[in-house]
Amino acid sequence: MAGAAMSSGWSVTITGEQWAALHAHLFPGDEDEHGAVLRCGIARSERGNRLLVRDVIPAIDGTDYVAGDRGNRLLVRDVIPAIDGTDYVAGDRGYRKLTAEFVADNIDVCADEGLAYLAVHNHGGHDKVAFSGTDMASHERGYPALLDINGGVPVGALVFASGAVAGDIWLGGEERAPIAHLRVVGRSRLELTPAPTAAAVADPRFDRQTRIFGDRGQQILANSKVAIVGLGGAGSVLSEYVARLGVGELVLIDPDRIDPTNLPRVVGARRRDALAWLRHPTRLALIRALGERFAAFKVNIAARVARQASSTIRITSVPRSVMEPDVAALLTDCDHIFLAADSALARRLVNSVSHQYLIPNTQIGAKVSVKDGEITDIFSVSRMSSPGSGCLQCNGLIPAWKLTVEATSPEQRKRQQYIDDDDVHAPSVITLNAVAASRAIDDWLMSVGGLVERDASADHWVSYHPRTGEVVEIEPVKDDGCLQCGPTRFALGDGKELPVAPASGNGG
Ligand SMILES: [Zn+2]
Ligand SMILES: [Zn+2]
Repeated sequence: MAGAAMSSGWSVTITGEQWAALHAHLFPGDEDEHGAVLRCGIARSERGNRLLVRDVIPAIDGTDYVAGDRGNRLLVRDVIPAIDGTDYVAGDRGYRKLTAEFVADNIDVCADEGLAYLAVHNHGGHDKVAFSGTDMASHERGYPALLDINGGVPVGALVFASGAVAGDIWLGGEERAPIAHLRVVGRSRLELTPAPTAAAVADPRFDRQTRIFGDRGQQILANSKVAIVGLGGAGSVLSEYVARLGVGELVLIDPDRIDPTNLPRVVGARRRDALAWLRHPTRLALIRALGERFAAFKVNIAARVARQASSTIRITSVPRSVMEPDVAALLTDCDHIFLAADSALARRLVNSVSHQYLIPNTQIGAKVSVKDGEITDIFSVSRMSSPGSGCLQCNGLIPAWKLTVEATSPEQRKRQQYIDDDDVHAPSVITLNAVAASRAIDDWLMSVGGLVERDASADHWVSYHPRTGEVVEIEPVKDDGCLQCGPTRFALGDGKELPVAPASGNGG
């Protein structure tokens, strides 16, 4: 049943840009052997144990908290090509080898920064590859010492054919593991394995889709774990789409309960979910408060819709803020994060997770700008970003003033007259959300289905303005010193704290 992507154990994740550089170095067309080193951050999937969530909200009926062993990932941070004749030279036992200096320089950086070390070379062939006996013997001679120098942080090797990869990872003690796959993340997703894998035949109900994406595409959807942060108007549409497409696993995060004014926009919401009859303005305040207190959580409405669409989908619905550390941890082993929450803190967090854990994200929203009582603009926007590429911070979309306002308590905000109830009272209509959600899911489908055109850029940021009918595409910029997508965070995985809210009641 489980395809390569589902196997636990170890895998490697690399961005599209890094992959292009590595592939060009290993396969310049001379049919010869070349070498490189990858320095990698580490993401262990058992981190942020999912049971934490179950403990906090035991009362939600039928919610399925997934144990979440998606395997451990080596996140490629640096690709260091070995220069032929200087760093990569004739070997005494094998054909070629990395020089002792090149190895020493790289293992020193790894030891300093807590990174895993992977030596890389290539063989001939296309869709199948394995280490030679000479390769394995050299690992056994060299890696115990390297592991020691690296303070027990994994070291190992990858060997590539032009469309395949195998790995031998040394984990410390007596433990060694192969890699299940290497994934290239970004607009054009690609997965390499040691040998070709057969795709399971898709369920016949997906017949019309498999005519586009094939059985393999349908299997990728079934193996995908998708997070949606914010289950209001836009998030509820996203959630329904991915469930109907056959996505295997959903993580739904939103602390809010449904309000009667959400009913025109939230897919699947019923009048009784909002307890509208208790919350009518003519009711006593006490009765209205009761209605507010017992209205349904938005995540549970989305989960109900998703389950109606798919009997096999696994859902983790979390009616809490994504800013809580154990909730944020749920994002770190997802395959894609959709951000449909209109908060700068959530934007900063998802943006950081995306670049730190090499998980693509799409931020979506709709906005109606009003000035002096006049509507000045109406638009919906979808921004798909690839790790290491355009980031919300670099493009001015996480304003510092907004972070400050959101970080103050609601009481303080009221006192300072920032009545920030955008979510409830901002102008909004279901169609704007649907346009943004459709574009976001289309981009993701083209990516996982391998249908993105070769020369498409790594990111896709597009807004639609119905008053003029304009569709505007924006090429995001990247600031190399950015604290969120730059070297201080990029691909560091578990080796860096996420910008979550400080745990309350924990003075340490
Ligand atoms: Zn070899
Ligand atoms: Zn950035």
